[in-house]
Amino acid sequence: MTVSGKEGVLPGFDLHMHSTASDGALSPSELVAMAVEASLEYIALTDHDTLAGLAPARRAADAAGVTLIPGVELTCLWQRRVLHLLGLGIDPGYPGWRDYMARLTELRTARAETIAHKLVARGVVPDTILEQARAQAGAGQIGRPHFARALQAAGVVSSENEAFDRYLGQGKVGDVQAQWPDVPAAIDIIRKSGGLSVLAHPTKYHLTFSRLRLLLAELARFGIDAIEIGCPNVSQEQVGLLLRLAESLNLKISSGSDFHRPEMVWTRLGRFPRVESDRHLIHDFIGR
Ligand code: AMP
Ligand code: MN
Ligand code: MN
Ligand code: MN
Repeated sequence: MTVSGKEGVLPGFDLHMHSTASDGALSPSELVAMAVEASLEYIALTDHDTLAGLAPARRAADAAGVTLIPGVELTCLWQRRVLHLLGLGIDPGYPGWRDYMARLTELRTARAETIAHKLVARGVVPDTILEQARAQAGAGQIGRPHFARALQAAGVVSSENEAFDRYLGQGKVGDVQAQWPDVPAAIDIIRKSGGLSVLAHPTKYHLTFSRLRLLLAELARFGIDAIEIGCPNVSQEQVGLLLRLAESLNLKISSGSDFHRPEMVWTRLGRFPRVESDRHLIHDFIGR
């Protein structure tokens, strides 16, 4: 098992990306076109709390000769903390998804109303911010990034990052809590729909490494399948630590860019630290 830059050992792949079905800038078919451009052979579309992009992505991927791994990124709660779990290789037709997704849409719709209310009460944003955020979301699942874009378009901030720093990020007025499903519920539906569950971007939860170790031990007891290790911004040292953690808990590993938009140059499609390992769950999808 090695951590290296050995590209070409595996076909090009990327197991974490977003489309206009949630907070990505590209439609599913534009995303597939970009994957072809980046010489990717296996891609997982993992929109936040929706499966709506998977059918158009399937059509585009089949036409382009790219293997689409149907995925999702589920927002869920662990000890009042919000975590993101990827489901990879899920069956979008699994009947249980209908109620599960309806609940998430309800939570996101209600949360958006609360976010708008709080921002307006602050007196710094236009009264129409909810309509503007909804317009940014279009038919997609609404989230804080749509508020960030609306705030930028309204001239309240000059970048999405500034919107998160001042209004939407952790602990800010627009960081509204919601009763997301808990981790066992997310793991359960991913498994029942035939997928593998993966803790997304483990270094992004503001946890010390020892708390992360506790979290992962608990997630392993809940039956999670994998940890995402090859994420942009993860250092080689963190890759090593996470790999050892995966080994000790007998978890698989995954990697993906978490691509949202072409302008974010540090999250290009297919770009993330390479982790060559028998534990990598890409092996479950190659030659399936
Ligand atoms: P939500 O799912 O609505 O809570 O929004 C979470 C999404 O916001 C993440 O998936 C990122 O795409 C985006 N996001 C979170 N924090 C930041 C940040 N500091 N700057 C820019 N985008 C962010
Ligand atoms: Mn996102
Ligand atoms: Mn995420
Ligand atoms: Mn993501």
